[in-house]
Amino acid sequence: MKKLLCILLTFLLILTLSSCASDKAEERSFEAMDTVMHFKTYGYSYAPDVMEKLAGVLDSLLSTEDEESDIYRLNHNGSANLGADALALIKRSLSLSADLKAYFDPTVYPAVCEWGFISGDHHVPDEKRLKELAAHIDSAKVKVVGTTVTLPKDTAIDLGAVAKGYLADECRNALEVSEAPCAIWNLGGTILLYGKKPDGTDFKVGVADPENPASYFGYLTCGEGIVATSGGYERYFEEGGKRYIHILDPTTAKPVDNGTLSVTVFSQDGVLSDALSTALFVMGADKAAEYRRTRKDFDFIILTDDNKLYLSEGIYDDFSLESGYDYEMIKVQ
Ligand code: ADP
Ligand code: MG
Repeated sequence: MKKLLCILLTFLLILTLSSCASDKAEERSFEAMDTVMHFKTYGYSYAPDVMEKLAGVLDSLLSTEDEESDIYRLNHNGSANLGADALALIKRSLSLSADLKAYFDPTVYPAVCEWGFISGDHHVPDEKRLKELAAHIDSAKVKVVGTTVTLPKDTAIDLGAVAKGYLADECRNALEVSEAPCAIWNLGGTILLYGKKPDGTDFKVGVADPENPASYFGYLTCGEGIVATSGGYERYFEEGGKRYIHILDPTTAKPVDNGTLSVTVFSQDGVLSDALSTALFVMGADKAAEYRRTRKDFDFIILTDDNKLYLSEGIYDDFSLESGYDYEMIKVQ
């Protein structure tokens, strides 16, 4: 009898300990990649420590501004032998760019600089200069031989549109081999959803209202994966009453001005979610819907300036609009 009670008590203790372990979340915020990242991790895990460090390391490898970085060396020497992470992400970006052609191109960087988005010295370049810049945006001309990447003259690259997605994929790999049962990590607009909440329900992700980014116009409860959002509200300047945003159309070297306000993409692949949030922004809702019919491994939410909210079929039922927003919700097949 005593033995049975002892076993029962031990069993209860284990149960209590394991439920405490997974109900209790460790939270941390830190700065990396020009943004604030926030990790909420349930249960004990070494992954947050390791990944916070990795965020800093990737930041210094992929930064276009840090003179020690792989990307800086490449952009300033025209050719460079790259480390594994920068090389992997360049190769992935080039293959995405080959698929997304006119909409996603990491060689937009000189144009991003010309508009002043890096220096903060914003101005509208003249048409002649824009034509010159557009003529040099062509990732198909970037050569990769072994670990050496070579750029054509007057070309430079920026992996800013996919770096957080790459980090998200690495974070998920780390969580998978750690003890943590679930986590929600916000990598500055790119959100990794890992597992379910301790109560068995899915994590909920707010989608920022472009007019008031501190508020959410709705919530997504979509299960595990990576949710990335690109918005014109994140970085922009105004001149002569017109707004110029940091997402550029690679064919014109000009900021996108097609009525898109924000694009959120959900997929199982962080780099894909991140790249597509930028690319679909350039495409606009109609072309984005057409593109999705060619591949169904992602879903999107696109808000346009006529208060229409386009949601692809896979995500439509997972989205709830906040009260007070009268957007017309359109299901895209
Ligand atoms: P954020 O960096 O604010 O999360 P995005 O993921 O949309 O936003 O990435 C935008 C960044 O990517 C820009 O700051 C610019 O450096 C670069 N960029 C802008 N337009 C494009 C484009 N069409 N294709 C690839 N990269 C782009
Ligand atoms: Mg992006």
